[in-house]
Amino acid sequence: MKKHNFSAGPCILPQEVFEKASQSILDFNNDGLSILEISHRSKAFVDVMENARALALELLGLEGKGYKALFLQGGASTQFLMVALNLLEKRAAYLNTGTWSDKAIKEAKIYDDILEVGSSKEANYNYIPKGYSIPEDHDYFHCTSNNTIFGTQIKEFPNSPIPMVCDMSSDIFSRELDFSKFSLIYAGAQKNMGPAGTTLVVVKEDILGKVSRKIPSMMDYSVHISKGSMYNTPPVFAVYVSMLTLQWLKSLGGIAAIEKENKKKAQLIYSEIDLNPLFKGFAAEGDRSIMNATFTLENENLKDTFETMVKDANINGINGHRSVGGYRASMYNAMPLESVGVLVDVMSELERKA
Ligand SMILES: *Cc1c(COP(=O)(O)O)cnc(C)c1O
Repeated sequence: MKKHNFSAGPCILPQEVFEKASQSILDFNNDGLSILEISHRSKAFVDVMENARALALELLGLEGKGYKALFLQGGASTQFLMVALNLLEKRAAYLNTGTWSDKAIKEAKIYDDILEVGSSKEANYNYIPKGYSIPEDHDYFHCTSNNTIFGTQIKEFPNSPIPMVCDMSSDIFSRELDFSKFSLIYAGAQKNMGPAGTTLVVVKEDILGKVSRKIPSMMDYSVHISKGSMYNTPPVFAVYVSMLTLQWLKSLGGIAAIEKENKKKAQLIYSEIDLNPLFKGFAAEGDRSIMNATFTLENENLKDTFETMVKDANINGINGHRSVGGYRASMYNAMPLESVGVLVDVMSELERKA
C-alpha cells in the first residue's frame, strides 16, 4: 500500500508521473526503445530537454524576458560554487538563514570576501532576519527562499539594488512570486520538481560575462547556454521525469493553482500544531514555511506512542533533521491534502490518548 510520504527530499512525486516514467523505461513514445537507451542527441530526447526548459520558464512567467533555463548536474551544492565562479568579482552579499545558506557562503569565500547582511544563526535559524540593507557596490545578493531543515521561508523579498540570486531548492514552483526580481534562481530537482540528479538553473543572460577569471567549461553558465544545456551528456532520466512533473503542474493550472493547495495543507498542520498542547512549532510564526513544517513533541514520554501511531497510519519520513530534532512534515506540491489530514488525525488522537 502506498505510504503518506512526508520525506524532505528526495520525496513525493505525482503518482501519474511515476506511472508515465515507468512506462517510458520500458518503451519510450512507443518507439521500441527505453528512454534509458536512446542517444541524448536523438530528436526524441532533444525534444524532452527543450520542452523541460521551456516549461520551467513558462511556469515561472519568465518567457521572453532574457532568461535561460538549464538542467545541470552536481546538485544545488555545485551551484553554491558556480554562482561565485560566474558572478563574484570583488565582493558579494549573503543572507544567512540556515545550513544551506551557510554552505553557500563557505563556497563563495573560496573566491573572495563575503558580507553577511543578516543571520539568524544565534537562534538556530528559527526566523528570517529582516530590515537588513544590501550595499549597491557588491556584485550580487544571495538568499535561500525556503530553509528546508528549519522550516522557515522568506515571505517578502527585498528590492535588491544588485542582482538577486536565490536558492529555491525546496519551494520552487510552490507559490507565486515576481520571479523577474531574481537574476538567477537555482533548485535541486529532488525537493519539488523531480528525482535527484539534475538541478534547474534559471539565469538572466545579461548578468553573465562580467568576471575577469577564467571559468572551467563545465562550471560556466555561458557554455551551457550556448550548447542548449547539452554541453555534455545530460542526466537524461532526471530531466525527463522533471519534464513530466512540470507538465503535471501545468495541467493543474500552474503555480497559482498549486499554491492554493499548498496553503490549505500548511494551514491544516499549523493549526493542529498550535491547538494541540502536546506539540510546539519550531519556526517563528510569521516565517513558517508552507513546504516544511517543523515541530517538537513537548512530552518525551509520548515519543514511542506517537511514533508507533505514525507508523501504523502508514506515514513515512517525518523525523526532523538532526540539527533541529523533533519532527518535520514536508508537504511538497505532489502531496495530497488527505495525507496531511492523516498526520493531523494522528496528532489529535495522541492528545485524546494522553
Ligand atoms: C537540499 C537542499 C540543498 C542541497 O541540494 P543538493 O542537490 O543535495 O546539493 C541546497 N539548498 C536547499 C535549500 C536544499 O533544500
